[in-house]
Amino acid sequence: MATKSEKEHFDKLARLGCILCIHLGYGEGSPAVIHHIRRAGKRSNAPVIPLCPEHHTGNSGIHGLGRKAFEKNYQVTEYDLLEIATGRIAS
Ligand SMILES: [Zn+2]
Ligand SMILES: [Zn+2]
Repeated sequence: MATKSEKEHFDKLARLGCILCIHLGYGEGSPAVIHHIRRAGKRSNAPVIPLCPEHHTGNSGIHGLGRKAFEKNYQVTEYDLLEIATGRIAS
């Protein structure tokens, strides 16, 4: 169950739009869903990034390609995207 501040954080990220679209120069505001960056173990504190449905579960998405192929394809890691997203919503 997400806390109130987590929910606000998720909302901010979702409003920002797909972070990969931003990284690729398509601009802000692609309708996005929240993707949890999985590390071994606990899901509850996993960092999250916003991704549009295509870049999330589509053929060119992180789940469609798998993380390794995704990172190779876009020359960016989930953590780079996390940093971009965090920087954008901090301002
Ligand atoms: Zn996207
Ligand atoms: Zn996901």
